[in-house]
Amino acid sequence: MKSDKKAENEKKFYDSCRVKTGNNFQLSRIAPQDTPLVSFEKKEAVAELKKLNVRLDELQELLYAESKYKILIILQGMDTSGKDGTIRDVFAGVNPQGVKVKSFKVPTSEELAHDFLWRVHQATPANGDIVIFNRSHYEDVLIVRVHDLIKKNVWQRRYDHINDFERMLTEEGTVILKFFLYISKDEQKKRLQDRLDDCQKHWKFRVTDLKERKLWPKYMKAYNDMLPKTSTPHAPWYIIPADHKWYRNFLIASIIVNALQNLKMNYPQSPNNLKGVKVV
Ligand code: ADP
Repeated sequence: MKSDKKAENEKKFYDSCRVKTGNNFQLSRIAPQDTPLVSFEKKEAVAELKKLNVRLDELQELLYAESKYKILIILQGMDTSGKDGTIRDVFAGVNPQGVKVKSFKVPTSEELAHDFLWRVHQATPANGDIVIFNRSHYEDVLIVRVHDLIKKNVWQRRYDHINDFERMLTEEGTVILKFFLYISKDEQKKRLQDRLDDCQKHWKFRVTDLKERKLWPKYMKAYNDMLPKTSTPHAPWYIIPADHKWYRNFLIASIIVNALQNLKMNYPQSPNNLKGVKVV
C-alpha cells in the first residue's frame, strides 16, 4: 500500500499539469522549455521511461484481460510538437496488438457531409482497447477557426458538443486522457530546419508547415480558448512542456501509467472456477 504522503504528492504532481476550467487560464504562463515537477535530468528520465514502458505493457495486458474499461488518449499540438515521437517512445515495448493509433487528417467529402463527431465516434476504443488519437475532434475548433473554414457561432458551440460527447464516453467506461504537446516557436524552427538538413527527414517536411507557422499567434489564441473550456473532471487536458523530448515522454508515460493503475484492475478468474485439466 502506498503511504498517504506519497499518494498526496503524486496527486499534486499530476494535478499541477491539469488544466483547470475558468477564465484565469493563460497558456503563456507556461514555458515549453521548462522541466518542472522533476528533480532529475535526461539520463535518469530515459531510464525511468524504460521502466514505465514495461509497466505500461503489463497494464495493457491486464486492461485487455479484464475487458472492463476503454482508454482514449488524445494528442494535440502544433506541427513538429512530437505527436508521432510520443506514440513511438511512450508505447515502445507495449504489445502491438494492444494499441491502435488513429490519425485525423483533412476530412474527406463523406466525413464533411456528416456532423464533425461522426468520424471520431467510430474510432473510439471498445472494452479492453487503448486507442491513441493523433490529432482529433479538437481540430474542429482549432484549424477551422484559424483558417476561417466555418462560422464562429458553429465552432463556438462545438465546445459544448465535445464536452457532452466526452462525458457520454466516460459514463460508458472510457478513460480519456488529453495531452497538449506545448512547444515553443523557436523549437519548432529548429525541428523544421533539422528536417531540411537531414536527408532522411526530408519526407517529414511539408511546405504547408511554413504556412501554418505564420499563423502561430492565431493557433495559440485558439488553444488558449479551447483548453480551459474543454478540460473537465472526466476528461482533463494535461499541458506537456514539450521542447525537451525526454521530459515530454517521461511525463506522458507517468500520467498514463498512473491513470491505469488507479483503475485497480484485476485478472478475471478461470471459467467456472476450474482448477485442473482432466485428461479425456
Ligand atoms: P500530421 O501533421 O498530423 O503529421 P498531416 O501532415 O497529414 O499529418 O496533417 C494533417 C492535417 O489535417 C493537419 O494540417 C490538420 O490540421 C488537418 N486536419 C485534421 N483534422 C481536420 C479537420 N477536422 N478540419 C480541417 N483540417 C483538419
